[in-house]
Amino acid sequence: MVPERIELRGRAFRLFVRRDEIAERVRALAEQLRHDYAGTEPVCLIVLKGAFVFAADLLRQLPLACTIETIRARSYGAAMVSSGTVHIEAPALELRGRDVLLIEDIVDTGLTLQELVRFLEAQQPASLRIVTLLAKPAAHHLGLPLAYIGLQIPPVFVVGYGMDYAEAGRNLPDIYAAEPIAEGQSGL
Ligand code: 5GP
Repeated sequence: MVPERIELRGRAFRLFVRRDEIAERVRALAEQLRHDYAGTEPVCLIVLKGAFVFAADLLRQLPLACTIETIRARSYGAAMVSSGTVHIEAPALELRGRDVLLIEDIVDTGLTLQELVRFLEAQQPASLRIVTLLAKPAAHHLGLPLAYIGLQIPPVFVVGYGMDYAEAGRNLPDIYAAEPIAEGQSGL
């Protein structure tokens, strides 16, 4: 049985996207990618840490001769809000002329991805596209190459399926959304 409500680090979360719906969205994304990247050998860049679960499920459904690498963008700030300051740890891999597919778990403001995209575009790949499992409404404001989106969600804070709340909850098979904070309680 999948619990409807959980607590992580003293904060309440409600079931938001069940594992079977996630699996369905991942299957649909894989089908699109199989079609669009047929005959190519893309570099699949997994954005750590959050995208590791999604990428593992997605990549096992892609019968492509792809190279798999990880990239890390640390944004500094409070646990539940995005920050504009980004530090990038990238693989030592030649991207010039390659088809690059960036695999992300969730896009909120898109600021982190914008930094990654700038960094990667400077290496002149043949193409650069993003596949993300989730996107919040603000994700579309920066004109990022968000070619593949599993699910549009409202601006709620989510955990599970790779995504964390202060490093808790990444191993949950379902996705949970934070409950609104009662008045007088701390937000973090
Ligand atoms: P951005 O606002 O730059 O698009 O988001 C930066 C990063 O914050 C994302 O890559 C993701 O790791 C994290 N993030 C954004 N929204 C959420 C969310 O609802 N839950 C979790 N766990 N992380 C999020």
